[in-house]
Amino acid sequence: MTKLFLSRRLVTEDGIVDGGVLVNDSGVIDKIISRDDAKSIANEPNVDVIDGGDLALLAGVVDSHVHVNEPGRTAWEGFRTATAAAAAGGITTIVDMPLNSIPPTTTVENLKIKAESAKGNVYVDVGFWGGVIVGNQDCLRDLVDAGVVGFKCFLCPSGVDEFPNVGRKDLELAFDALEGTESVLAFHAELEDEDAASCENKIQKRDPEEYNTYLESRPPKMEFNAISLITNCLPKTSVRVHIVHVSSASVVPLLEKARQARLASSRAWRGGVTAETCHHYLTLTAEEIPRGRSEYKCAPPIRDTDNREKLWNYLLEDKLDMVVSDHSPCTPNLKCSNNLEAWGGISSVQFGLSLFWTQASARGLDLTAITKYLSTAPATLCGLQHRKGAIKPGLDADLVFFDPEDTFTVTADIIRHKNKLTPYIGRALKGVVKKTYLRGQLIYQDGEVLDSPKGDLLLKAI
Ligand SMILES: [Zn+2]
Repeated sequence: MTKLFLSRRLVTEDGIVDGGVLVNDSGVIDKIISRDDAKSIANEPNVDVIDGGDLALLAGVVDSHVHVNEPGRTAWEGFRTATAAAAAGGITTIVDMPLNSIPPTTTVENLKIKAESAKGNVYVDVGFWGGVIVGNQDCLRDLVDAGVVGFKCFLCPSGVDEFPNVGRKDLELAFDALEGTESVLAFHAELEDEDAASCENKIQKRDPEEYNTYLESRPPKMEFNAISLITNCLPKTSVRVHIVHVSSASVVPLLEKARQARLASSRAWRGGVTAETCHHYLTLTAEEIPRGRSEYKCAPPIRDTDNREKLWNYLLEDKLDMVVSDHSPCTPNLKCSNNLEAWGGISSVQFGLSLFWTQASARGLDLTAITKYLSTAPATLCGLQHRKGAIKPGLDADLVFFDPEDTFTVTADIIRHKNKLTPYIGRALKGVVKKTYLRGQLIYQDGEVLDSPKGDLLLKAI
């Protein structure tokens, strides 16, 4: 049966219109129609009308940076809980990071093990990043063939032994292996230099419960060093590169310069040089982080208010391309009050859309900003733009009815991810997800994740 979704605030790539979305039996968007056309079609037989009234109708959010941790660290997070949280937050696709699960996604064999854990357990569609570690360059093309959206590597220790960081030589091997594949290499861009040891000595003498102690242990210079190394590699490769979770605004001009240099010769989206920032860097500031509260700890760290404002400016100038959660959970015992020893990672997948809208609406942005930065850009990064990321014909009918005026407060009882830790407890947010649809099927409604998991794994045959 054809479905007709109606909204007075339908958010398309061309703007916000009063109209409808026709969805075929396969859950694919057939057409966008005006209110007038919708009136006649609504009366046809075999048309199921879903009228959202004044609720906005958005494309489902694509969160391209989520750590699910299953298998291996399933006590931290699992596919069922992470994807239920996503569905409740208006996210219809997540892309799982290659590390923190055991084994990490660094070979096709390991990808199969992960896919087996996810199968039948996902409420939204799930894509997968592969990992680049020391010595696995011969596995990369097979992972591309298996359908990973791209690869992630670290230039500094990742925090887990099974995912060692790479150096310049390993990078050159990885770039060579990926040349011509249209895949993307994403970087955790922090790199220590020769001053790091003396800095470390000073830091160790300070109060580890003070947030500033941690903040100063990961200065903007670490991000700058990493971006310099990456941009120096670019003239020798045409592989797309992506910088995950930019925290320091100081690196953006360097990235922009590298992008401009590439644009002349590359047909890839944004010249094949892209960058994301995260909801926590656009929402929180170092000044407000209470002592001993390591649920705010992440790497790179949350910096000061001036830096947050600069990140917003760069986003609006399209020098940063997208906003993601970097949902990176752990068990409560790993979030001790010592900020130097606690696990670094912020859990927030369920609240990304509302976190973004709370800030964006206060800054005068309209609903099209959500689609642009939270759906279209991450889908394009992951090569999913032919299926995901916008309300337009031919794409999956991943849709969200969203009340942009309504507000709610984050409390532990509404959190769907496994360990109810998040820095946002008690925070009032604007914008409430009312209903989420995956390929035209209702998966979440007013606080309830519905039925059995209907998500697909976005992989080729493996
Ligand atoms: Zn991450």
